Amino acid sequence: MTTARSERAFEAARRVLPGGVDSPVRAFGAVGGTPRFIARAEGAWLEDVDGNRLLDYVGSWGPMILGHGHPDVRRAIAEAVARGWSYGAPTEAETELAEAVVAAVPSLERVRFVNSGTEATMSAIRLARAATGRRAVVKFAGCYHGHHDALLVQAGSGAATTGTPSSPGVPPGCTADTLVCRYNDLASVEHAFDARPGDVAAVIVEPVAGNMGVVAPRPGFLDGLRQLCSARGALLIFDEVMTGLRLARGGAQERFGITPDLTTLGKVIGGGMPVGAYGGRADLMARISPEGDVYQAGTLSGNPVAMAAGRATLAVLERLDGWSRLERLGARLEAALAPRLEPYADRVRLARVGSMFTLFFSARPVEDFDAALACDTGAFGRYFHAMLEAGIHLPPSQFEANFISLAHTEDDIDRTAAAMADAVAHALSDA
Ligand code: PLP
Repeated sequence: MTTARSERAFEAARRVLPGGVDSPVRAFGAVGGTPRFIARAEGAWLEDVDGNRLLDYVGSWGPMILGHGHPDVRRAIAEAVARGWSYGAPTEAETELAEAVVAAVPSLERVRFVNSGTEATMSAIRLARAATGRRAVVKFAGCYHGHHDALLVQAGSGAATTGTPSSPGVPPGCTADTLVCRYNDLASVEHAFDARPGDVAAVIVEPVAGNMGVVAPRPGFLDGLRQLCSARGALLIFDEVMTGLRLARGGAQERFGITPDLTTLGKVIGGGMPVGAYGGRADLMARISPEGDVYQAGTLSGNPVAMAAGRATLAVLERLDGWSRLERLGARLEAALAPRLEPYADRVRLARVGSMFTLFFSARPVEDFDAALACDTGAFGRYFHAMLEAGIHLPPSQFEANFISLAHTEDDIDRTAAAMADAVAHALSDA
């Protein structure tokens, strides 16, 4: 597979963009080699600037749940653009997407649109602190909620990959009220509540973690968080930027039957355009400016083109009951892989929830960040490159989720399972 043009593009990019990219993990730092520069995408396929076709499981890190270039979304975007693409004044498109999202996500009564997942979690935490009159926030090691200062402490995803658990430039004061607990460990959360009696404003959690690789909540974990928060007067924030509108129409909260106080959304909600959102109980959301006193604003928030893309994406998912198909495709991959991975059961394990999956190079189940960090990342790198050679584009890090889309066919899934087994054999034989 020739990569000469991607190599030249990366070289040029590095001269003007730090690391040659606009988001760290894209640079292939964890696996080495040259990131593929993408020229176009259609359905489940990417085409890079060298003309290689790659079966895509990155899906723009989650948003492209329909696959690339879906005609309904394309049409909705084109129609919106024809009417102008930003007004800085209210539009009916915002109400339409808000109504659709409120109808889909069980705990949402009202919602505010922003431009990214980072903005959504930052704003939800501000609201939680205002509503409770408390300062401390509990997060979990390995969960990533965006790059705002207060939560950039032992973050997963890019930060873990580069081995920097927190970032220079974040003043200690910004994280002094952030308590980091162990995922799937309720005792660590009780401990945090005890450490700051009467002062924990919120617990923020990825209800299914995707930023240390896919880690499912143990039975009782989310329920326990709900009970602890209610008992101690804190708000429970589900960060469903990744899981929202993906793991079910109503996200992880529908799947697990838990009602958070606040929810953050992103990725799928914008159908590939820059959209985030936070929402929850009407009484809490009434605190947001201009109705209430908690300030939060955005020049491009609720952008009409982005709203149209999000609305069209959700409409297609609803029309096709996309979530059932995604579940079936995920189960098919898991079933096809199980016998093939059996010989390597002491070295690799597949974690899957719905259409999100990670192949961990780990001898033991990965249920928290420490277990994720103990994975054999060298073997992962060899596996990753073998997959790329086979024409399959995966997230270039052990600590990420792969995403199945509605554009993947049964054949794609079967081919992927076979390629994964071959790549695992290759990765482990080189060890
Ligand atoms: N929360 C979760 C769970 C995420 O996965 C991400 C991004 O991957 C974010 C928040 C931040 O979203 P964004 O990258 O849009 O700022």
